[in-house]
Amino acid sequence: MADETYHYDVLIVGTGNAACSAALAALEKTPRVGMLEKASRRDRGGNSALTVLMRFAFNGAEDLRPLVRNYSDDEMRPLLEGLPHRTEAELWDEIMRVTDNQSDQEMLQVHVTESLKTMHWLASKGHDWSPATIRDDNVVTMNGGGAGLQQRNFSILEKAGVVFHYETSAVELVQNGQGRVTGVKALTPTGFATFNAKSVVLACGSFESNPEMRARYLGPGWDMIRLRGVPFNTGDGLRMAMDIGAMPHGSWTTCHASPQDINLPVFTVPSAHSLRDSLTRYMYPWGIMVNTKAERFVDEAWDTRGRTYAAMGRAILAQPSGIAFQIHDAKIRKMNLYTPNYASATTARANTLEKLADELDLDAAKFVKTVTEFNTAVQPGKYNPDRHQLDGKCTAGIYPPKSNYALEIDEPPFEAWPVRCGLTFAFGGLKIDPKTAQTQHVAGRPIAGLYAAGEMAGGLWVGNYASGSGMMAGATFGRIAGTHAAIAAQQS
Ligand SMILES: Cc1cc2nc3c(=O)[nH]c(=O)nc-3n(C[C@H](O)[C@H](O)[C@H](O)COP(=O)(O)OP(=O)(O)OC[C@H]3O[C@@H](n4cnc5c(N)ncnc54)[C@H](O)[C@@H]3O)c2cc1C
Repeated sequence: MADETYHYDVLIVGTGNAACSAALAALEKTPRVGMLEKASRRDRGGNSALTVLMRFAFNGAEDLRPLVRNYSDDEMRPLLEGLPHRTEAELWDEIMRVTDNQSDQEMLQVHVTESLKTMHWLASKGHDWSPATIRDDNVVTMNGGGAGLQQRNFSILEKAGVVFHYETSAVELVQNGQGRVTGVKALTPTGFATFNAKSVVLACGSFESNPEMRARYLGPGWDMIRLRGVPFNTGDGLRMAMDIGAMPHGSWTTCHASPQDINLPVFTVPSAHSLRDSLTRYMYPWGIMVNTKAERFVDEAWDTRGRTYAAMGRAILAQPSGIAFQIHDAKIRKMNLYTPNYASATTARANTLEKLADELDLDAAKFVKTVTEFNTAVQPGKYNPDRHQLDGKCTAGIYPPKSNYALEIDEPPFEAWPVRCGLTFAFGGLKIDPKTAQTQHVAGRPIAGLYAAGEMAGGLWVGNYASGSGMMAGATFGRIAGTHAAIAAQQS
């Protein structure tokens, strides 16, 4: 394979949502766009192909109309009653709240102010959404989920003549004497090849699929963790960029990790997507969680589900054997709170707490004591298991507390759902200029010709995250990266 075969204006590494958004934006300025993908064509699309939601700012139904073209206001109304708006100020506050005020403010400013514009831009490319039916605090879901979004992206990009190189792993950045990035060396099915480009966009995910990097940055126990997503995001883009002096940015010791069925496989790929939908275990706000010592270990509802789930995985991993049990009583089923994916969950059920403990191999006396103490601590108040807001119905006098949705667990049959931590992605990334997505050198100046987006751009998420944010940030900064990479290519 001859190196000189490949010459692009803009070369994009990865085919996730950030990469595809970069490609869509670059195409507005140049048709000479190429994409490298480590996976096969069948499993292209990255973690983005496994998703459902995007979290964005909006001021009311008018802002949603371009997204939900086939739905009437009547069909949107039930959702808007729960969440009539998420203004830019509210989205800013939400992200600052989940990150303990540690989100990079310049990144966040762009993320917040560009989110709705980016949604409308995606809609202008042919994407569409439906009112959300899943129990999440977002209002619309992508039609066909992330798989649908990515299918549409691929068909638009293929029609426009974008060249895809599958089973091709970027391994090294190529630079000229002035330090400008001029291409990428990659391992193709037939050996190494150099892909020359006027600009390169790195959008090849974080390091969640690399056990050595997980151990190095996230710490003990994370090397053996199971992934919710693809095995391809091994931190190659981060390593390649840092090898030429790119500045790391954001939180390298924290990640997005959530409660998953105990039988979560080690990883998944987009072609096995339907299986994954059934494995998330996000009903913990409606009950309690105990570890194998039959002890509660976390406030199950310090905030809404969408603002706690990404931090819950870490809490579960810290427990003995890294597992926990979600405990519910019959009231939760009567209130129809279960999401459909629990239908296929691993479960135990019994008419007494003692029998449930036996089924779970827990110390029965201890388990009964934990549940009784919890029940006694539940305070009066109106229970309102709303996915958009907190009800303030809490416990008093126990540790850990439960800050919202606290209902006694006292009505048989009792049910338990064994869960483990599933890693979604790591938060550490590269320092980019938020206005252009150009990467920054440790020397304090931009790296000519090199842009980054999606999970590769660090700074937004620290310690925790709000549901739907990764796809939104990927689209926003992917679009910015593609635009500025193409402008730079035209100027070079
Ligand atoms: C099961 C699941 C559900 C999720 N649900 C949501 C949701 O509903 N909403 C939300 O906002 N977020 C969700 N997320 C998080 C979301 O997937 C990420 O935030 C988002 O996909 C990141 O996009 P990306 O383009 O940066 O990375 P990805 O989509 O992961 O794309 C990275 C791509 O780079 C490729 N690649 C890696 N290394 C190389 C290399 N060396 N050379 C070439 N290619 C390479 C990979 O194969 C992959 O195609 C979910 C994640 C998972 C796992």
